[in-house]
Amino acid sequence: MSTTEAQERAAARGLPPELLARLASHYAPEVTDAVIAGYAAPRACTLRANTLKASPAQVAAELDAAGIAWRTPAFYADAFVTDAGSEPALRALDAYAQGKVYLQSLSAMLPPLALDPHPGENILDMAAAPGGKTCQMAALSGGKALITACEKNAVRAQKLRHNLEKQGVARCNVMECDARKLDEFFTFDKVLLDAPCSGSGTVSLAGGAYRGGFSDELLERSVKTQRALLRKAFETVRPGGIVVYATCSILPEENELLVESVLNPSKDELAAASRDGRRGGRRGRGKRRGGDGPRPVKPVNAEVVPLPDELLEGVPLLPCALEGAACVRPTELYEGFFVAALKRLS
Ligand code: SAM
Repeated sequence: MSTTEAQERAAARGLPPELLARLASHYAPEVTDAVIAGYAAPRACTLRANTLKASPAQVAAELDAAGIAWRTPAFYADAFVTDAGSEPALRALDAYAQGKVYLQSLSAMLPPLALDPHPGENILDMAAAPGGKTCQMAALSGGKALITACEKNAVRAQKLRHNLEKQGVARCNVMECDARKLDEFFTFDKVLLDAPCSGSGTVSLAGGAYRGGFSDELLERSVKTQRALLRKAFETVRPGGIVVYATCSILPEENELLVESVLNPSKDELAAASRDGRRGGRRGRGKRRGGDGPRPVKPVNAEVVPLPDELLEGVPLLPCALEGAACVRPTELYEGFFVAALKRLS
């Protein structure tokens, strides 16, 4: 496979050959080059008005008073785009100290909007820390959704609690646990799974050399966890409820192929999921009653709910084989991201 000049420059700056090879295998050369240009571009600093504490107009007034130029993206009136390099000035604002704003990438604002939280809804955030999307869901519901935020890593769970308090989120229960092991006792109206991933969308070469940790092994591990988490998401959401699946990856292995493999698994994938279920069950609760064979995995009955056009207005997209989902292309404004809304049918 021949490489372009842009790909050679990225390789010289340390972009792992495994990542380059995967991008080039999924996307046309000009699309891969556009991704690399996005990795290399200094990224704008973006933030969200925390409407639990301040209106967008109040935040705009504070930005104006501090002399920080801003604009709003078409898809979201609560979001602000400021120049690359303005982060120190943003962190110095009173609004920042008081939790009236949250620094968040534009792409990361899409999954909570796709989930569309409403007052009174019982919502699970399966992989929540540091909590940008938990806080956004709370704000979108006017502080009236009942949110359970799950996080496996103790240090990150502490950061999550800190952010929830700073942002004034009251109706949120933090569970420090592995979401794959959530009890079947729990049922939610909506589930957000912002899954741990290879980070192939958030690569930045703007500051010089590549500093991420992409490897084929990380990708393989991520896919395995993502599949188990997404299956669990469908076990915990009620029939008719919505699961929003998101990653900050632009690799189909972690995105549309992963969703496909959960919605329409091959015989091999079903057998593998059953084996994984058996291993998880043995670690968690000792031997399963009624034998030691693979725990049969129930088929998932769900369909994609197409993302609304307004949500993707002005958002740069990569080709995506799952109709109705979106894969955001990294640019100077956006990180690479994947979002799909899925409805459990029965
Ligand atoms: N949603 C977060 C936000 O908007 O701030 C970002 C989430 S980050 C992409 C993924 C998180 O999932 C990490 O904090 C990681 O520690 C956590 N995680 C990984 N595996 C998990 C598991 N099995 N159960 C719960 N949390 C997990």
